Amino acid sequence: MTKDTFSLAVHGGAGARRGRDYTREIAHMKGVVEAARDALRGGAAAIDVAEQCVAALEASGLYVAGRGASPNLTGQFELDAAIMDGARGMGGAVCALQGFESPVAVARAVLETTPHIMLAGEGAGRFATERGLARIAEETAWFTRAGTDESNHPPATPQTSSAGLAHGTVGCVVRDREGRLAGATSTGGVFGKMPGRVGDTPVLGSGTWADQACAISCTGQGEFFMKVVAAAQVAFRLRLAGQTLDEATHTVLTEIARMGGEGGMIAIDASGTVAMPYNSDGMKRAALLADGTITSAAFEL
Ligand code: ASP
Repeated sequence: MTKDTFSLAVHGGAGARRGRDYTREIAHMKGVVEAARDALRGGAAAIDVAEQCVAALEASGLYVAGRGASPNLTGQFELDAAIMDGARGMGGAVCALQGFESPVAVARAVLETTPHIMLAGEGAGRFATERGLARIAEETAWFTRAGTDESNHPPATPQTSSAGLAHGTVGCVVRDREGRLAGATSTGGVFGKMPGRVGDTPVLGSGTWADQACAISCTGQGEFFMKVVAAAQVAFRLRLAGQTLDEATHTVLTEIARMGGEGGMIAIDASGTVAMPYNSDGMKRAALLADGTITSAAFEL
């Protein structure tokens, strides 16, 4: 890949179920990727594009993240997000955040302005207030509860095993014109989650990762992705085992499937190659490849 090319991928969650129409999400993701292409063409940095894409996915209310998030078992909206800049080796994350429009913006502020990597709950909220980040005025009007209208979606009742967890998330991985890599993920978590439950999304190395060799954003039943440190495992397979991005992502997903878990991931490597495997029914996803091709789909292409 030459210096001046760039590529990226976004996802809207691997909770896609057969029989449901994702026309709106597919069109929306395509628009997000087109806007990112224009920004990258203009020289935007991978970390900025990753944040902007995830913020657009959060704000749409179409996916189970940001505005589209669903409440936990006690009716509270506790959101998680992470962002990582592979070029600088820096990350930021928030978990169980309440009351803010864009969890990924709070995660970015943690990355840029604190000596820490993750802030949780009330402390994260206080920090976001101090930073002047946009608050949700009225929760009832704000949240769209994307996915809860799906007739084939499991109801938001207590789940008895990790394997039963229905879910949704958004994410983005980017390689910019300078070859810098970044990844970001944001989620409302799994449906029917216990108060205080935090999944893989904000945990660097589990649901989100970026270094100088690759960037990864995962989606699926987070408990399984945490058990295999999915995102970092892909990175280590590239670096230490000499696997390709395709081999590494498939190997990790196969391990998750063997444990009974489902989900998917989007990944990009230093050459700009994109991988988007999943073992669920479908995964809402879109990509801009280095040759300029844009794809957007929920199921097999
Ligand atoms: N991985 C997310 C979580 O477990 C959910 C998802 O990706 O759909 O919180």
